[in-house]
Amino acid sequence: MGMQVTPEGREFGLVAADGVNWGHGGSGEADFPPILPGSGAGWKRPRLTGPAPAATAKEVKQASLTMALTDAQQQEIAAARADQAQTRRPSVPALEAMLFEALPVLDHGFVRVIDYMGDDAAIVQAARVSYGRGTRAANEDRGLIRYLMRHRHSTPFEMCEIKYHVKLPIFVARQWIRHRTANVNEYSARYSILDREFYIPAPEHLAAQSASNRQGRGDVLQGAEAGRVLDLLREDATRNYDHYLEMLNEDDEGAARDENRQGLARELARMNLTLNAYTQWYWKTDLHNLLHFLSLRADAHAQYEIHVYADAMLKTVEAWVPMAFEAFRDYRMGAVTLSAQMIAILRRMLASEAVTQETSGLSKREWREMMDILGRKV
Ligand SMILES: Cc1cc2nc3c(=O)[nH]c(=O)nc-3n(C[C@H](O)[C@H](O)[C@H](O)COP(=O)(O)OP(=O)(O)OC[C@H]3O[C@@H](n4cnc5c(N)ncnc54)[C@H](O)[C@@H]3O)c2cc1C
Repeated sequence: MGMQVTPEGREFGLVAADGVNWGHGGSGEADFPPILPGSGAGWKRPRLTGPAPAATAKEVKQASLTMALTDAQQQEIAAARADQAQTRRPSVPALEAMLFEALPVLDHGFVRVIDYMGDDAAIVQAARVSYGRGTRAANEDRGLIRYLMRHRHSTPFEMCEIKYHVKLPIFVARQWIRHRTANVNEYSARYSILDREFYIPAPEHLAAQSASNRQGRGDVLQGAEAGRVLDLLREDATRNYDHYLEMLNEDDEGAARDENRQGLARELARMNLTLNAYTQWYWKTDLHNLLHFLSLRADAHAQYEIHVYADAMLKTVEAWVPMAFEAFRDYRMGAVTLSAQMIAILRRMLASEAVTQETSGLSKREWREMMDILGRKV
């Protein structure tokens, strides 16, 4: 796999197609050596003292999960991790240890942190509009960050920025791109040829349509039905990808199939690809908007396939800004909104009144949601 040079002479993306790769951690992908956090000669933007944290057993296990990274891509990542720079800017050792590493998501996807600006202290510094770092005792900083989160004083959180490289199925990208406050640069399928990689759900995620929720999933498909669905997904993706290459007049190695054909433009041929083909982008946002994204996409209502990306990103946030992460977990992820009517009902319940849906004034759905919050059976 090589680098595609655009007409403007910029390196814009990777060309050529990999071999078919269907596995969920199967032996076919196990040839790639795992990249471990903290491996390589050093890490980017280090603190002036202190070694890189050693890889934990969990990280080793995670890194040994197979991913669709070619040897050349792994070498580029290793080279980036080997590069070091001295800086006066704040850096966070726990995130430095993750920098550039691909955290595996789904069967061929990943999330990796490319760069970041700021830390917990930067939130405090902005809130206090300080001349120096602005931090005081850790418990004061923590208290301030929690206060800011609790009262939705959001602008100090906007002072921290993070940039990710994400590889994700196109149908997940369509959900993700609805978040308008990030800066995005997507792999160009006008310039480059997409890899022969398609998301095929692991059997335990091959769910039936939910009977009660039109946006949700029900029980996991079993037996012959599950097998047939997997066959269809594979066959359709493969056939469409084969036709894509045929229209481009290229083979899997990028060579012309037929010297007498011109081949259809990449920007047109791509329309034949299935939505489970993988795309990639760089996605940069500030901490406030990232937390908003995560509150929606790491939520139980989010589709599994985007939820797992949000889960991987939560790990990076926890490493990056542990105090803000804790406040976010407590006041956003773990919090609920009660309407004025619900609070009135709660007061009646606390005064030992036996409130029912009929006497509550709430709709059946709202009542169900409120009882769910309170952990009561309807
Ligand atoms: C579980 C789930 C199901 C969904 N189902 C559907 C669906 O069926 N159909 C569908 O179309 N979408 C659906 N969505 C997408 C959803 O409606 C939002 O478009 C998406 O979550 C982005 O949210 P956002 O606008 O708050 O985020 P962002 O675009 O990141 O914006 C962040 C915040 O910035 C502000 N903002 C950004 N842009 C503007 C603007 N132009 N004007 C004013 N304020 C702005 C708003 O306060 C916004 O909340 C779903 C999302 C989820 C999480």
